[in-house]
Amino acid sequence: MKTNRRNFIKSGGIIAGSIFVGTTFPSSLRNNFINKEKNFTMNFNFKPYTLKLKHVFTIATNSRTTTPVVITKIEYDGKVGYGEASMPPYLGESHKTAIKFLSKVKLNQFKNPFDLEDIIDYVDSIDKGNPAAKASVDIALHDLVGKLMNQPWYNIWGYDKNKTPYTTFTIGIDKPEVVKQKVKEASGFKILKVKLGRGNDKEMIEAVRAVTNVPLTVDVNQGWKDKQYALDMAFWLKEQNVEFVEQPMPKDQVDDIAWLTERSPLPIMGDESIQRIPDVVKAHGVFSGINIKLMKCTGLREAHKMLNLAKSLNMKVMIGCMTETSCGISAASQLSPMVDWADLDGNLLIKNDPFKGTEVVDGKLKLTDYPGIGLVPDKNVWNKI
Ligand SMILES: [Mg+2]
Repeated sequence: MKTNRRNFIKSGGIIAGSIFVGTTFPSSLRNNFINKEKNFTMNFNFKPYTLKLKHVFTIATNSRTTTPVVITKIEYDGKVGYGEASMPPYLGESHKTAIKFLSKVKLNQFKNPFDLEDIIDYVDSIDKGNPAAKASVDIALHDLVGKLMNQPWYNIWGYDKNKTPYTTFTIGIDKPEVVKQKVKEASGFKILKVKLGRGNDKEMIEAVRAVTNVPLTVDVNQGWKDKQYALDMAFWLKEQNVEFVEQPMPKDQVDDIAWLTERSPLPIMGDESIQRIPDVVKAHGVFSGINIKLMKCTGLREAHKMLNLAKSLNMKVMIGCMTETSCGISAASQLSPMVDWADLDGNLLIKNDPFKGTEVVDGKLKLTDYPGIGLVPDKNVWNKI
């Protein structure tokens, strides 16, 4: 196992380089959708905003009631692309860091928004880190380009909008009576994600199972330290109709995770271990699959590449989110027809969503027909920002 992984990592660069399919538009196509007569430039703006959560949100490492985000806008030729950076505090970005980063972004040097690769490479090169701030530019740019083509991104990529998966709805760690109440409130969902890793794992699952028989997934958020405990839990969880275990152990316990994956009856998915493209290569032979999140990977362009890379390596793919508005969720959901599991419930956890976009109908993600990332501002909230 270990040897295979090392060999693979050695050859990973070549494999990764040979299979990437970016969204680079041929010049004939790029020029069809822009008005060359008029010298339009991209006008970039951003605004900090604070999401209010409906309930206190608890995972293995912390609890909170708000999430700082930044809403971005790129205007060009009368069209507006919207983007978002969502920054849960434990990931290290904040209003302050995002404002500092986004103040350096000068999009007016580019004449053609269809130069996605060049523009996003430039944004990535401004500074290291800042993945959510970078994603906010990437998402707005994709929204704009889709609007200039008058097509939603699932069409541009060639995905069937009817093939979206069910989305999980997250049940946070709490006392059994609170868990039971939350599960009852989530009765419209066909699959639930249960947070584990705070020492009451079986109690959590038993509380959920007292109320529902729907399939479950579990997210341990690095909460288990012992590989044998993790393996015993994986066998027990399989009997409880759990579909996979997400990030069971700390990301630095690579060999323990690989040991677990080799023996586990359930797929072991990497989340905290997986941020950008090189992490997919490292995850091969360690995890069964990866959790792609726009706010970790700098946006749709890289997410699309990670999806293709993981699929080509025969790895499972899930697409996840932070607590975020319908902007980030609608963007991520454009990729969802291609994933094994979706965990796109972040907009359902907030009280002050400034957008309407992808919705959950009978537990399944429902993509809109709107171009770009498929959203419209909700005037009631938007006008107050
Ligand atoms: Mg997770």
